[in-house]
Amino acid sequence: MPIRRLPPLLVNQIAAGEVIERPASVVKELVENSIDAGAQRIEIAIEQGGTELIRVADDGGGIPFDELPLAVTAHATSKIQAAEDLDAIATMGFRGEALASIASVSRMSIVSRPAGGESGGIIESEGDQVQPPQPIGAPVGTVVTVRNLFFNTPARRKFLRAEQTESTRVTDSVESLALAHPNIGFVLSIDGKLRLELPSQQPARERALAVLGDELAEELLELAADDRGICIWGLVGKPAIARGTAKHQRLYLNGRSIVDRSINHAIKEAYRGLIDPTRSPTIVLFITLDPAQVDVNVHPTKSEVRFRSGNVIHGVVLSAVRATLRKADLVPELELSAARSWSGSFATFPEQAPPEFGSGQSSSPAPATFVDYFRRLAPQQKGFVFQEVRQALAEEAPEVLATVNAAVEAKPAAEMLPMVRSVSDILQVHSSYIVTQDESGLVIIDQHALHERVMFEKLKARIASGNLESQQMLMPAVVPVDAAQVQLLEELRPLLARLGIEAAPIGPTAIGVHAFTSLLFERGVDPVDFMIEMLDKAQTRGVNHDSEAALHETLDMMACKAAIKAGDRLQPEELAELLKYRETVERASNCPHGRPTTLRLSLKELERQFGRS
Ligand code: ADP
Ligand code: MG
Repeated sequence: MPIRRLPPLLVNQIAAGEVIERPASVVKELVENSIDAGAQRIEIAIEQGGTELIRVADDGGGIPFDELPLAVTAHATSKIQAAEDLDAIATMGFRGEALASIASVSRMSIVSRPAGGESGGIIESEGDQVQPPQPIGAPVGTVVTVRNLFFNTPARRKFLRAEQTESTRVTDSVESLALAHPNIGFVLSIDGKLRLELPSQQPARERALAVLGDELAEELLELAADDRGICIWGLVGKPAIARGTAKHQRLYLNGRSIVDRSINHAIKEAYRGLIDPTRSPTIVLFITLDPAQVDVNVHPTKSEVRFRSGNVIHGVVLSAVRATLRKADLVPELELSAARSWSGSFATFPEQAPPEFGSGQSSSPAPATFVDYFRRLAPQQKGFVFQEVRQALAEEAPEVLATVNAAVEAKPAAEMLPMVRSVSDILQVHSSYIVTQDESGLVIIDQHALHERVMFEKLKARIASGNLESQQMLMPAVVPVDAAQVQLLEELRPLLARLGIEAAPIGPTAIGVHAFTSLLFERGVDPVDFMIEMLDKAQTRGVNHDSEAALHETLDMMACKAAIKAGDRLQPEELAELLKYRETVERASNCPHGRPTTLRLSLKELERQFGRS
């Protein structure tokens, strides 16, 4: 085929392929235009997932009558003029392609009246057929209507998902924009039903809660940082509200929603050891910095950016999020379902039966595991189980219940209970859980999880000041392995040295451990078991060459092995010591795998449940 110029319609449709993927992207581009036009209020309506109709109406600056044809022309923009402007982009748009792209794949009309204008104008288009603008009566602002999206590009249309899915994406897109612009009012309706209504001039926190859900208010910590020219404001979710998807992790740079691997990494790092690594935190961060420090023109939808100094941003985000989490009380509160009115009978159980518990037939759980049981219950069932918990406590720990009751009775609202007052305030339940109190209520601790965290922090602190201390073995411990694992040993040598472990092959299928980590020795960890597990892990997962991550993983394993186990009977002094560590160790609220170490039942909740409030 000879080389030919592509016809303009095709050029625009190709451009549309990059920017306009689906109805949600049309909505994003149109709403961004309204934001750029200085709108105070933006109304969005879609029908049939946006394929039938998308309408975005604003009260912004409008488009002058004679500029209407230009607005739908490719590479026509009012936002930048020269290359230098690219270094200081303060608007959402600047490429001048959105309207032309949308027009090329739909039937579009724009009705607009500029702020000072006498009357309005309308311009209609269908693919590349653009009609000349006509005068029309209209209020100040702009209404863009997009019908039959992708009517002339069937391949694109086929690519769309179910109506419901497309609608959800539109909602998501509007929410994302609304989060970043709390001063602007937003209304979204889908198929004639009002879905979202956000007033203008909302304070940032209020807007964020309106979008994320007011019920999360208690779970979101406010972050504010200003470091090395980078300002960050945001809401940082406590570990308890981490999710299985990254949908609740939102990043904004200078008001624009972005995705950025390096910042995501910083966030993950800040939550390390607080949430399970497969989960993502709920977090919204608004980062503001000098536009000259960032290139937003690396991606057609501008969702990816390039930082001039990515390392600095990584560092600032990491320390800001970490500091916010560190300051907070991360102990999850047990919330029992709505308190019943106690004037009635006790027998108003919810319809749903509690889930099968263990293998036993008995419907009431063994008290030792009631914490686990609690965690597995749906929230609406917790009120029911609480009676079982209460009963278990009454049997196992009447003194705890009595202390709490007495405290509630006396009701010294201002005068909080002291922390653990003496060892008699600590009770070990079924050799696995520690029940005690703090100033706001009853505290239940998983002894293994807490000690694991304590051991982990100890190991980490020691390794920060050099290799771990090691102890020579009188006789080498012989570890039976396979030939491949003998080979692996060589690769693991630098890591082992840091951990204070000396090991060498003593034959084709055996390794001798000549020196072992002192701390593990003291805790009675068997060097043979330890080495087998470490080598097995390295073999199945491969040797991790990111040395920090590998070290972290191994310290994790060490902490787990060295920690007190569930089922270990502890002396009162040992219990007291463990609780003392809880006060000093960082991230004591969660074990190194991110599971909680501690649950709290507040006095307020107890009062509510016992019908005392
Ligand atoms: P860009 O936003 O990159 O400039 P668009 O194709 O999205 O490109 O829009 C082209 C031009 O049309 C904008 O630069 C702006 O001048 C004008 N425009 C588009 N939408 C609106 C609106 N809602 N209100 C006022 N002007 C608008
Ligand atoms: Mg635009």
